[in-house]
Amino acid sequence: MPELRKDPITGRWVIISTDRARRPSDFAAETVRIEKGRFCPFCPGHEDKTPPEVLAYSNESLRGDARWSTRVVPNKFPALRVEGDLDRQGEGLYDCMNGIGAHEVVIESPEHDATLATMDEAKVAEVIWAFRDRIVDLKKDRRLRYMMLFKNHGEGAGASLEHPHSQIIALPIVPKRVQEELDGARKYYEFKERCVYCDILRQEARDDERVVIRTEEFLTLCPFAARFPFETWIVPQRHESHFEAIQEREVYNLAWMLKTVLRKMDKVLEHPAYNLIIHTAPAQESFSAHYHWHVEIIPKLTRVAGFEWGTGFFINPTPPEESARFLRE
Ligand SMILES: [Zn+2]
Ligand SMILES: [Zn+2]
Ligand SMILES: [Zn+2]
Repeated sequence: MPELRKDPITGRWVIISTDRARRPSDFAAETVRIEKGRFCPFCPGHEDKTPPEVLAYSNESLRGDARWSTRVVPNKFPALRVEGDLDRQGEGLYDCMNGIGAHEVVIESPEHDATLATMDEAKVAEVIWAFRDRIVDLKKDRRLRYMMLFKNHGEGAGASLEHPHSQIIALPIVPKRVQEELDGARKYYEFKERCVYCDILRQEARDDERVVIRTEEFLTLCPFAARFPFETWIVPQRHESHFEAIQEREVYNLAWMLKTVLRKMDKVLEHPAYNLIIHTAPAQESFSAHYHWHVEIIPKLTRVAGFEWGTGFFINPTPPEESARFLRE
C-alpha cells in the first residue's frame, strides 16, 4: 500500500511507494565522469577568462602553477546584477522590479577533477569558509535579502562546467520555497514553542530508522516526507537560524560530513549527478528561534513529471528508511 506522508515543516504531501520500492540499481541515472583535456576557464592559468575575483584563498598544499586554492568570481553571465537602484513597479496587477542582485561562482579547487567527495577534509572546510565569508560580505548590501547557496554537480543536475564549483545568488526578495519553510516553522513555533527542526533532530535520533550519520555537531538523515529517492538533509545539532553563524568546530565537522555523505552516495548510486543547497534564514533578519539552517542534497535519479508539475506533490519510489539504510551500510 503506497503511503501519503506530510512534511511537518511545509505541510507538503508526498506519495511514498512502498510496494515496488526502487533500489539504487533500479535507477538508470547519469554517472558523472570528468574528462580532462577540454578547455576550462576555471583551471589555473586561465584566471583572465573570468571576471576579477572577489575572494581568493591560498594554502601551502598548492602544486604546479596554481596560485590559489579557492577562488570566488562574479558569474560571467549573471542571472542578476549588483549595479543600480532597486526599483519596484506595477503594471496593472503585475509586479516587477529591476534585476538587482549578485551572482557569484565559488571555484572550489584548482584541480579540475577534484570533487567534494575526493578533496581532503581541510580543503572542503576551506570551501565552507568561502561560502561563509561571501555571505557575510554580501549581507552588508541591505538590498540583498536572501543568499541562495547551491551546487549543481554533473550535467544531469544542471552543471555546464565540470570543474568543481558552487554558486551564490543574492536576491532582493525571499524566495517562495524558503518562505514556505519559514512560515511553516513559525507556525509550529507559535503553537508548540519549539523549533520544528530541533524536534525532528530529537525524534529522528531516537527512532534511528532514517539516520544516516550522527556526530555531536550534525545529524544526517533521509527526511520522513522525502520528495526524492535518496534525498538527504544535514542538520546542525545546535539551533541556529543563519548558516553564516557557523562555528569553527562545526565548519570542520561539516566538511567531514559532506565528504562522507557524498562519498557514500558515489558508492551506492555510482557517482550520481546531484544538487546541493543550503537553506538559511533571510540575510537582513536577526537570529530567529523558529528557523534552523540546513543542507539538502538531492541526487538526480528521477525526473519531475506531469503529476509533480501539476500538483507540487511528489511521488517518491524509494522510502527514506530504505535510502537511509543503503547509505548507512
Ligand atoms: Zn578546470
Ligand atoms: Zn532548531
Ligand atoms: Zn530546506
